[in-house]
Formats: sequence, C-alpha cells, structure tokens
Amino acid sequence: DAHVVIVGAGHAGGTLAALLRQYGHAGAITLVGEEPIPPYQRPPLSKAWLKGEADAESLALKPLEFYAENRIDFRPSVRGARIDRERKVLVLSDGTELAYDFLVLATGARPIRLPIPGADLEGILELRTAADAEALKGALGPGRTMAVVGGGYIGLEAAASARALGAGAVVLEREPRILARVAGEVLSTFFRTLHEGHGVQFHTGASVTGFRGEDGRVTGVELADGRVIACDLALVGVGAVPNQELAQEAGLAVNRGVVVDLEARTSDPAIFAIGDVTLRPMPIYGRDFRMESVPNALEQAKQAACAITGRPAPAGETPWQWSDQYDIKLQIAGYNFDSDQTLVRGDPASGRFAIFHLKGDQVQAVEAINSPPEFMMGRQLIGSRRPVDKQRLADPSVSMKEVAA
Ligand code: FAD
Repeated sequence: DAHVVIVGAGHAGGTLAALLRQYGHAGAITLVGEEPIPPYQRPPLSKAWLKGEADAESLALKPLEFYAENRIDFRPSVRGARIDRERKVLVLSDGTELAYDFLVLATGARPIRLPIPGADLEGILELRTAADAEALKGALGPGRTMAVVGGGYIGLEAAASARALGAGAVVLEREPRILARVAGEVLSTFFRTLHEGHGVQFHTGASVTGFRGEDGRVTGVELADGRVIACDLALVGVGAVPNQELAQEAGLAVNRGVVVDLEARTSDPAIFAIGDVTLRPMPIYGRDFRMESVPNALEQAKQAACAITGRPAPAGETPWQWSDQYDIKLQIAGYNFDSDQTLVRGDPASGRFAIFHLKGDQVQAVEAINSPPEFMMGRQLIGSRRPVDKQRLADPSVSMKEVAA
C-alpha cells in the first residue's frame, strides 16, 4: 500500500490526511508540520478568536487523538527540508528520511516582511499562525493603539477586533483606497465608512518607510511624507508569498506558486501540491491563479485525495471566501477578472447589498454584504456562465431566484 507523505500540517494538509482515510486509503500516512500543534483553522485568528469569542479547542480541525486513531503519523515541530525525487525521499530538518510513494506539498504561504528600518523592533507583529495571534491578542487592550500597515482583509478584521477589545486602530494604506487589490471602489468606501463609524482612523496614499522605537520597542510608524503615526504595536498585513522553496529546489515547475493541474498534481506525477502554495487552473475564467482561501484548500485536498485513491476527479467548484467585520458578513464568490461593468443591487447605506461584476452579460464575481441569497445565486450564475438580465439583477424587488431562473 502506498505511503503518502504530506508536508505542511495546515488547513489543506490536515484535511487531506482525513479525506484519504475517509476514501479508504489503507497505506501509511505521515503528516509533517513545522508548527507545534495539529492542523487548525486560521480565519478566526483575526475574527472571533481574536475578540475572545472562540476558544483554542474550537480552532483545531480535529482533536489530537484523531490522528493516532486513524493511523496518521502526525509529526509536529519539524520541517520538510529537501526532496530527493530520484529516491522518492523527503528529508526532514532533523535528518530523518521518509520514503514516499506520493508526496503532497501543503506548505501554505507566509506574510511578506517589510525590508525597512526598524522592522525588527519589538511590538511589530504579523498574523499567520496561532502563535502570532496569541502575541497580537496579548498586545491589544484598552488604551493601546495598533497601527495596521496594509488595508487588506486581515488588517481590517484585526482592526475591528482591536476595537472590540477597547484598543485604538489606525490603518495605513499605500494605495489611494483600502482593499485596492481585492475589491472595487464601492466596497472599499463601504468598509472605510463602517470602520470610521467604529472609531478606526485611516491614512490612504500613505507609504510606510520605517518604524520608530524606544528601548527596542516600536513607538511609531514613519510615512514617506515625513509624518510619524504613534502606536503601541504595529501589525503588518501587506500580503503573503507561497512557501514554494522545497518545490523550487527540487526542480518542480514553479511560477508564483507550485504549478498544479486539476488533480492537484505537480510536474512530477508522484508529487501533489494543495492550498495557498499552488498556482492552479481556474477553468471558469480560463486562467491560472494562486488563491488564498479555505474553500480552495478544501477543494484541492479533495482533488489530491481522489487522484491518490483512484477516484474520478471531483466536479469543479466556483471559488468563494468570506470576511467578518463588526456585524457585517461579507461573502465573495468568484474573482473579478476582466469585468466591464459593476452593478449594485440594494442600498449600501442599508448595510445589506451586493455588488455584481459582469463581463458582457455573464457574472464574473459577486460581493454580498449581509445578503446570503445574492451570494448563493450569484455563485451559481458564475459557475453556470449563464447570461443574466442586468436590469432584473439590479432590481432588488425581483428575487434572486427569478433572476437566476
Ligand atoms: P496553511 O494553513 O498556512 O498551512 C501550511 C502549514 O505548512 C503551516 O502550518 C506551515 O507552518 C507549514 N509549513 C510550511 N513549510 C513547511 C515545511 N517546509 N515543513 C513543514 N511544515 C511547513 N480564508 C478564507 O477563506 N476566509 C477567511 O475569512 C480567511 N481568514 C484568514 C485570516 C487569517 C488571519 C489568515 C492568516 C488566513 C485567513 N484565510 C481565510 C486564509 C486561509 O487560512 C488559508 O487559505 C488556508 O489556511 C490555506 O491552507 P494551507 O494548508 O494551504 O496553508
């Protein structure tokens, strides 16, 4: 029976190990992770958990016993260091050699670090792991001010959680608006107004050039125009890069992510890659893309599990993700590629509306704010590529069911 070795015990790797057993894989499974704890969910680290509304146990994908009970050899606190493709061996950082029949790279992504003066001062934090989140939570509290470098989803969620904990938050964004990379104008404006209503401050068009400190601790963030924004801690959330070095050094095809097909197979048929580390095909858009979302990690874990256990490839899924800030639930389906029109359904001032991005009369993406039907039906429309009647789509008095009919 085949030995499957999984490198990276995160959302994708943990899910794959469980799925392999569920699909009847009888051979050995080894799950190697550099973190000290079994696979867990990251989304709550900037949301419910950070605000103190979820406990640590609720983060775990499965309790620790699950791995032994299912004959999954979980090896924490050790890294996959090198792949010997000729001998089909993964060498670990402690020197152990693991012979594999199938190797799966599930190494995720890591936060980008800013190569600027003062970046190693104490109190400058990032948010990727449970340990990062512990450090952040410990630094937040009434009377403290957090500077958030980068107005993306993780930074904004952390700002909302900081407010809930009584701390101040100042968001510094280089672009003229927040969420510039991932959302359109309407959504950026909505979230800025929402956060300002909760006392978060914003500086857009603000390029961070360095950090100021005293006694080794951060006290402020320097901007290119000479201003210094005072803070007690700074959270840097300016994007992530794939942990693709293992693949790269082994000579696998890599291009801003480990290149895989719809079975999650790399350029070596014995090696798969899943989750944030991959550059994967997206057939509905006819392009390749690196996604950073839980639904993508789950979909690719399923693809790899099917390929390894000889099941037919699962049907393609329409990508989606979400964000929670205050009492706002944002659900996003699809990606806004090549759209030529934006339609807003509902009134942003009501706190319930949806933004549809269209290419011709096809929906490319939808951002739904407290609007589950728009999200669900919108996601179906994206997947089916069916043309829509734009007038009806923009009219909230016509139900989404009727629009999609
Ligand atoms: P990860 O979960 O990052 O797991 C990779 C693991 O591999 C890590 O434990 C890493 O330490 C380990 N590793 C790396 N290199 C090695 C090595 N050489 N040897 C051994 N181990 C290694 N997604 C959503 O869809 N919705 C959200 O609301 C959302 N919110 C998020 C909030 C935060 C704060 C963060 C950080 C992420 C959020 N995401 C969200 C993204 C989501 O968590 C990721 O897409 C998902 O975790 C990807 O799973 P993965 O297994 O590919 O990577």
